[in-house]
Amino acid sequence: MSKILRYLTEHHTDMLDDLEEFVTRESPSYDKARMDSFAEFLAGYAKGLGAEVEIVPVEERGNHLRITWGDEAADKPILILGHFDTVWPAGTLETMPFRIEDGGVARGPGVFDMKGGLVQGFWAMKALRELTDFDRPVVFFCNSDEEAHSYFSRDLIEKEAKNARAALVLESSNGGKMTTSRKGVGVFEVEVTGRESHAGSNPFKGISAIDEMARLVLELHSHTNPETGTTVNVGTIEGGTVVNVIAGKAKAKVNLRVMDEAEAERMSEAIRSIAPHHDEAKVEVRGGIVRPPMIRGEGVASLFGRARSIAADLGFDLGETMSGGGSDGSFAAHAGTPTLDGMGAVGQGAHATHEQIKIDTMPGRAALVARMIETI
Ligand SMILES: [Zn+2]
Repeated sequence: MSKILRYLTEHHTDMLDDLEEFVTRESPSYDKARMDSFAEFLAGYAKGLGAEVEIVPVEERGNHLRITWGDEAADKPILILGHFDTVWPAGTLETMPFRIEDGGVARGPGVFDMKGGLVQGFWAMKALRELTDFDRPVVFFCNSDEEAHSYFSRDLIEKEAKNARAALVLESSNGGKMTTSRKGVGVFEVEVTGRESHAGSNPFKGISAIDEMARLVLELHSHTNPETGTTVNVGTIEGGTVVNVIAGKAKAKVNLRVMDEAEAERMSEAIRSIAPHHDEAKVEVRGGIVRPPMIRGEGVASLFGRARSIAADLGFDLGETMSGGGSDGSFAAHAGTPTLDGMGAVGQGAHATHEQIKIDTMPGRAALVARMIETI
């Protein structure tokens, strides 16, 4: 067994203690007070691992953390990306407490997406620093708003990525597989304006925004194509006032997923140019692509090859997969930086009540991260 893996295996219980601490400090994306307090905690934790920590203030969301080891002037750093926000509102712990069950499963809000990955990333650095003379620069950027489209971290992540030798993303994995491509993600809001009118006494004076929206939903959904991987989903819809009024307004939120840039452009244009059925109805479309597609280019493929051979040395088989979900890895890859995503926990149930990780995989996954940092 490699000495890094042995060390991490010996510290498995300490890793689980950290996992419990991370999960039981709730950190919902839109709860600034809790996010800032998590950032404060994480800053202290990272300092305990010999890192320098910069708290990056954010007004609209929680603060981010820029955690570094080594001398950045000496070499291009390796970038590790992780987010500490979760989709779970405060109080979720009451119904979904942190617990470790027989069978080696840890449960709790954010345990898989992605506090397990964070713990493994920090332990990778701890192992490297204690066991090797590794002294090259590493930037571990932890953002607070990944589950809220990374609107307030995207620029920072792209800047870090451009400056880095490679980016490793600690997102939860799909069955242990690395994520080597991701769909691009678009978010749009469609607003239809019709004309209100009494549904009984003046039924033909009105223009129903709901009728218009219903037609638009069908048109939007018709772009979904299993062959090309393009999907369009109207996720929320609202409209009208009361039952006896012809609706003057309707709004919908639309999610787009595409495989490549050309399709991202083609579909953005298609969504922006949807037109009303009635001459006098108005349709307004706002939004666009929020995460570019992550393409399996040469840099991605070569990092995966390296990870696969390291995993083989560590005693496990590593596969790769495409994901329909976005992540901050998309920004790093889009910036032209070799990027490997899905390096985090092995488990299932991201954003779902059965969220869980397999705890026996934690030392091996952390060792993989450590060896990647060491050898890239
Ligand atoms: Zn995530």
